[in-house]
Amino acid sequence: MIEQQAAPARGASSSPVRYLQFEHLIQFPTLVHAIFTRHGGYSQPPCAGLNVSFKEDRPEAAAANRWLALQALGLETWPCATVWQIHSAEVALFASEQWEDWSSDWPYRALQVAGHEVIWTPRPRRRADAIMTAERKVVLALSFADCLPLLFYDPQRQVIALAHAGWRGTARGIALTTVEALRRQFGCAPEELLVGIGPGIGVCCYAVDEPVRELFYGRRDFTELPVRPDLRNLVAESAVFSLVPPSGERPAASSEPQLHLDLWETNRRQLLLAGVKAEHIALAGLCTACHQQDFFSYRAEQGRTGRFPVLMALRPEEA
Ligand SMILES: [Zn+2]
Repeated sequence: MIEQQAAPARGASSSPVRYLQFEHLIQFPTLVHAIFTRHGGYSQPPCAGLNVSFKEDRPEAAAANRWLALQALGLETWPCATVWQIHSAEVALFASEQWEDWSSDWPYRALQVAGHEVIWTPRPRRRADAIMTAERKVVLALSFADCLPLLFYDPQRQVIALAHAGWRGTARGIALTTVEALRRQFGCAPEELLVGIGPGIGVCCYAVDEPVRELFYGRRDFTELPVRPDLRNLVAESAVFSLVPPSGERPAASSEPQLHLDLWETNRRQLLLAGVKAEHIALAGLCTACHQQDFFSYRAEQGRTGRFPVLMALRPEEA
């Protein structure tokens, strides 16, 4: 991955905003993409840095950080589309004529109302975990802390998609449903898609319980949003778990090897099963829990942390 940085913003942390880009995606002039680190930004602990979630932070800080991220890419005048991330395998199609009031779903400016700063839409209106579009000059925005960002680009059809793959979304086949939705909606050929798997929690740090494995292998199901029956075999085939011997860092209580989920490899396999070419998939290979200085980690910071943004957009075609 290639690291970029923006000039420090006035009143923000003295460190500049830093973001990562995939080498195989950076060559396309109409594609804009960035995975932000937590560096720079206005937020204080526990969300210190470039947090864009309203959950644990002052809304005005999170909104200002959204603006900073957009500004780092020169996109601060474009509207942003997002979804309410619910760990599903739902893929939303962004089409401006069908989405009412969408342009305030990812607010990045606070309004002054009677002397107070107010965010006017605290929640996005649509629930999904991937968003796709062929529209230009619209920013797709999702936020992350351990869950994997999946960035899709079809250079032939000029289509982008951005997905959020935590363990639940992965167990529901979000990588599979995103490729499927791109094919159905835009006629994207899976073998032409370029995909980047961004930073997320690595197998090194992702201890899970046995019921998680049972879900992947179809021996249990979710009580809500069940796994689509026709995807169960593919999800089971994609799943990669490993037994990690006890390490000195873990509490002495467990001397048994521990079950870990490999979210990176499981998603990579789902992409391969969906027809994406191995040479078209780039894996960041960065564990968010191992790199808390650079990324927010829900697991490593016991849930009290921020979210870093991932942004994608299509520029207008050259005149
Ligand atoms: Zn790790």
